Amino acid sequence: MQLIFEKSVPGRQGVTISKSDVPTSIHLNPALLRETPPDLPELSELDVVRHFTALSRRNYGVDTNFYPLGSCTMKYNPKVAERIAGYPGLAHLHPLLPQLRLGGSLTQGALQILFEMDHLLCEITGMGAFTLQPMAGAHGELTGIMIMAAYHRERGNKKKTVLIPDSAHGTNPASAGIAGYAVKSVPSDENGRMDLDKLREMLDDEVAGLMLTSPNTLGMFNPQIQEICDAIHSVDGLVYYDGANMNAILGKARPGDMGFDIVHLNLHKTFATPHGGGGPGAGPVGVVDHLAEFLPVSVVVKREDGTYALEYDRPKSIGYIAPFYGNFGIVLRAYVYILMLGAKGMRRAAENAVLNANYVRHKLRDLFPQAYEGTCMHECVLTAETLNQKHGVRALDVAKGLIDLGFHPPTIYFPLIVHEAMMIEPTETESKETLDAFIEAMRTIAEQAGTDPDALHNAPLSTPVGRLDETRAARNLDIAYTPLCGCPLP
Ligand SMILES: *Cc1c(COP(=O)(O)O)cnc(C)c1O
Repeated sequence: MQLIFEKSVPGRQGVTISKSDVPTSIHLNPALLRETPPDLPELSELDVVRHFTALSRRNYGVDTNFYPLGSCTMKYNPKVAERIAGYPGLAHLHPLLPQLRLGGSLTQGALQILFEMDHLLCEITGMGAFTLQPMAGAHGELTGIMIMAAYHRERGNKKKTVLIPDSAHGTNPASAGIAGYAVKSVPSDENGRMDLDKLREMLDDEVAGLMLTSPNTLGMFNPQIQEICDAIHSVDGLVYYDGANMNAILGKARPGDMGFDIVHLNLHKTFATPHGGGGPGAGPVGVVDHLAEFLPVSVVVKREDGTYALEYDRPKSIGYIAPFYGNFGIVLRAYVYILMLGAKGMRRAAENAVLNANYVRHKLRDLFPQAYEGTCMHECVLTAETLNQKHGVRALDVAKGLIDLGFHPPTIYFPLIVHEAMMIEPTETESKETLDAFIEAMRTIAEQAGTDPDALHNAPLSTPVGRLDETRAARNLDIAYTPLCGCPLP
């Protein structure tokens, strides 16, 4: 069989495509053709394999070591999720395959997964409808705030500001800003929670809504959420739930029941897949029923005959926010995770996440006090302030010292409202033995701060380049380079 392009494409007339879809003759503009072949490196397969294997072994990841990076939820990604996501029928699906033609068999399964995932997330969060398209948590935030803006536009509201607590993740004000709102910061109270009285003072008719993270980035759950939601609703504002920390309350509490109007989840972080180095993510957005008409196109629907389809005809939609249907592979891994654990398993995951964080907090509290007292949720924010005052050893030095002891450092200097912050998130997937080893390492460093602070100022001592000048390393990429084990590629 030969396929011939029948329509006239400039410079492409008569292109023939063989059965295998490999072009056999392409008439390119001669001015664009090379005169000499490109000087590509020629290497044996073995050399290439060694190069990439050497690179991969330089990676520090959840599969190799404990990774307590607070806020990032570097949890273990079950291999069963990887395996199912790797099934050729799913991994090789082309996004332009027809929805229904060819007997309906090619994409119906994928559409069914998306449809069911919408419903599972509605059940988990108590929301009315979801879009799975946003490709990161921050992308979900932007989508959610665009939905907020569409709501106000529809009602003729003249709204200008979005309120955000001072402990928020930096993506929150960025998303509200990109969506066109001015951002006002709400201070935290002495318990590390958003100050409700201050919030009430800031309310006026220009407030479009509030973005709230719960539990917040200090790892604290806010018991005043209902009052907060009522206050925002009293000025016809919408309440946005940053659900990146949802792993702390899975199966325990639902943002929809608390009065939130819009939520985003981080499927990476909360379900399968850790938050990885800018890698693929998924930040689905859920809304209450009356906001569903604003969700981005397309939306997966189930027809009366039982088949699934992507629906595009949604006049009030905020439009396209991502090509095709988001990061299907990440949605798929989360879908596997949710079905595998079920309601009981997810509740246990949340309990273990909270238990592990409190265990670490409790075991370190004499040396690294908690920034705000009280039981934490999935992460704890400790401070190296006393160590700094006594010995001049800062959170940065502790972090670098941990590298010498074989641990990835926790998040430091975030949230910004805590001096010498160290934000530790052990996640539910770590064993007591691993946590004990980490606690031991932290205690060793605190002791060393008293005996040999200079060693910590120079840490790490065990890496090829020692303490990196991170700004210089980012600007002069060759400085940190050390040759890979005998590999010929640079
Ligand atoms: C990680 C995180 C985000 C952003 O998610 P990305 O997928 O990194 O864009 C937003 N809010 C909070 C609280 C987070 O922890």
